[in-house]
Amino acid sequence: MLSVSEAFQLIEQTILPLSACEVLLSQASGRVSACDITSDSDSPPFDKALMDGFAIRSQDIQADVRLKVLERITAGEVPQCSLKEGTAIQVMTGAQLPAGTDAVIRIEDVLTPEEEEISFTIDSISPGRNVMSRGESMQAGEVVVACGERLAFPKIALLAELGCSQVSIFLQPSVAVLATGNELVPVDQIPGPGQIRNSNETMLVAQVENAGAKAVPLGIARDDRDDLRSHIKTGLQSDFLLLSGGVSAGVLDLVPSVLAELGVQQAFHKVHMKPGKPIWFGVRPADAENPRPCYVFGLPGNPVSSMVCFELFVKYALDRLENLPSQPAESRKARLRQAHLVKGDRPVYYPARITQNDHEFTATPVCWVGSADLRGASEANGMILFAPRDAEYQVNEIVDVWKWFETN
Ligand code: AMP
Ligand code: MG
Repeated sequence: MLSVSEAFQLIEQTILPLSACEVLLSQASGRVSACDITSDSDSPPFDKALMDGFAIRSQDIQADVRLKVLERITAGEVPQCSLKEGTAIQVMTGAQLPAGTDAVIRIEDVLTPEEEEISFTIDSISPGRNVMSRGESMQAGEVVVACGERLAFPKIALLAELGCSQVSIFLQPSVAVLATGNELVPVDQIPGPGQIRNSNETMLVAQVENAGAKAVPLGIARDDRDDLRSHIKTGLQSDFLLLSGGVSAGVLDLVPSVLAELGVQQAFHKVHMKPGKPIWFGVRPADAENPRPCYVFGLPGNPVSSMVCFELFVKYALDRLENLPSQPAESRKARLRQAHLVKGDRPVYYPARITQNDHEFTATPVCWVGSADLRGASEANGMILFAPRDAEYQVNEIVDVWKWFETN
């Protein structure tokens, strides 16, 4: 059976990264930049007042000095005069400072600020005080966004300051989510005998959104060829289709054969791991009707199998589509906080609580009884990889972990 690393390789070979596309900056939040972006100007573009007050020459400020006010300028106005010995110019926050200024005295430190001559409650000020010099925060020619960087709101703001009204990004992948199973009822219904709620759809939609992609929930398809076919056809219009259930060895596990009927080419089925062994992956190539390929994951129906396979494989596939570095989701080393017994010949991806202090990660396996145990897995914020061996991992042993999301 395929190993996890072989599965990663097949995903890497199958997925063709998206090509870049120009969008309005207002539509780029959360997307990956398709190029380096260089500043074409200094920030601030002029020496700027950081306080409401008076532009002065610091050497003029001494006990009992009086300075003559030459003019008053607000943000957006340009100074007409330059400072000479014994003079001051009133400035508002953000105003361009007149030539000769090397500090701004806050209005709170000025006696009689309305008068033609002002005096001060302080008798010295250091040069540079309350002044932001031209180019202090950014200089023309600096690379401010690297190609492959995800654009979060601070970078969006900086690009707005730079006047990048259009940016080149990789479009947000759309991910259709389809649950399969005769036993499923929608989350807002009370299950009848033998039935359960379709928790996987909501879970996968949340995971898709956590990964920065756009979820397209498609509801439930029954374990029936015609119903599966019509739902899957709809799902194949997205960049990805995630199916849950129907990929194991049961008599109603019809998903792989219906996918084949619809021209989805299998890349792999079954991976040597636990939970998640029955996972299926393939692609419906681009054709005359569909300009973009659709990548299809058949995730095992057991909720924690689906959850783990998403975090391990689907997230990697999404990153790959968005041109992010082509290496599987990065694991970290963590110190195990409690002993843990492992059995069996498959690597185990075990739900865990990962915490981080100043110098290390630590990992505590959650109390969990297997792939159908959502209650146990709901305490996790990541997973530990236990290598296949019949052994007891000791407290403080170093293990590989993945953190799924940040927690407080
Ligand atoms: P399957 O992979 O279809 O054989 O399903 C394996 C197990 O997962 C069965 O116990 C199913 O009832 C359960 N299961 C399948 N789909 C879902 C779903 N959408 N939500 C919750 N559990 C599910
Ligand atoms: Mg099923």
